[in-house]
Amino acid sequence: MGKYEIQTSKAKCTGCLRCQLACSELYTKVFNPSQARIRVVTSGADCSIRFEEDCNDCGICVDHCFFDALTKTKRESDK
Ligand code: SF4
Ligand code: SF4
Repeated sequence: MGKYEIQTSKAKCTGCLRCQLACSELYTKVFNPSQARIRVVTSGADCSIRFEEDCNDCGICVDHCFFDALTKTKRESDK
């Protein structure tokens, strides 16, 4: 279990994919959104945000979201 609980706000997501780029760069050393552990899918004004099973809740993708669509809170055990 990772350090953070991550909350999502679909309404604020622009579909910019900065989160996916940050995650893929961190864990695969390439900027390839398809390698990310977070997946954002947009369809018109609609959007879905989900995390893959190998997401470790490190919270780095949250730091790269400029639109507050991702936020994080420290888990109680890490406070
Ligand atoms: S929390 Fe970490 S592992 Fe999970 S999607 Fe975000 S950057 Fe990737
Ligand atoms: S969650 Fe944030 S960084 Fe990721 S696509 Fe949406 S607005 Fe961009």
